[in-house]
Amino acid sequence: AKRIVIKVGTSTLTHATGKLNLLRIEKLARELSDLANQGKQIILVSSGAVGAGMDRLGLKDKPKTIPEKQAAAAVGQGILLHIYEKMFGEYGQIVAQVLLTRADSVNRKRYTNSRNTLMALLNQGVIPIINENDAVAIDELKIGDNDTLSAMVASIIDADLLIILSDIEGVYTANPQTDPQAALVSEIADITPAIEDMAGGPGTLRGTGGMYTKIQAAKIAVNSGVTMVIASGGREGVVRDIIRGSKVGTIFM
Ligand code: ADP
Repeated sequence: AKRIVIKVGTSTLTHATGKLNLLRIEKLARELSDLANQGKQIILVSSGAVGAGMDRLGLKDKPKTIPEKQAAAAVGQGILLHIYEKMFGEYGQIVAQVLLTRADSVNRKRYTNSRNTLMALLNQGVIPIINENDAVAIDELKIGDNDTLSAMVASIIDADLLIILSDIEGVYTANPQTDPQAALVSEIADITPAIEDMAGGPGTLRGTGGMYTKIQAAKIAVNSGVTMVIASGGREGVVRDIIRGSKVGTIFM
């Protein structure tokens, strides 16, 4: 795999306290910079802006109104990029912020434009760090979650591989938080209704889509010819291992 999209969820980027997990972000930046040094084209889709903004604004509970949520996202996006810029910069890796909305994937002109911009960044060895443009996007124009966004991005740029990093090893036969008998499914060749039924909601208050949006993302990815893997962001060297072909997490092909 040469061109790889990596999506990291809030559950991977933050501690239970809501504060950013700096060690995790630092390791991710190091691993992705090293892959870029080996000639891989890397695109990072990162959540965490709302959480970072809430923390900075001293908000204890999730914002209730949309303007408040968007305000938190606007504060948090800057914080997030500042940290990525700093950590990737430590390894000499250039990053770029790219904020997208639904129109960028459905409107033909905008689609071509987003694709061209991302390609220009990749051709210069830059790692684009993508998020939905939460501060301005209104509901009807939203993609809604970064799992779907990452699959759209993978499709737009014809990625070879999409890796979704979460707080869990992969897809289980049921939500392991509620079912202790749940077992890891290591390969899904066909996303049947039975597979979709296995997927529950988010595991933590910080998480958003849960397994449901990840399976929906897998549909988009696979339909666009992109292999997708769901794996744990807590596992050391997880991206490198997946690229090497080790059996990690759940693979959709
Ligand atoms: P992220 O922030 O990484 O997107 P989420 O909390 O949104 O994380 O999604 C991951 C969570 O989905 C898991 O921690 C788990 O609690 C929940 N989940 C629901 N159904 C399943 C399932 N069938 N297999 C694995 N996890 C599941």
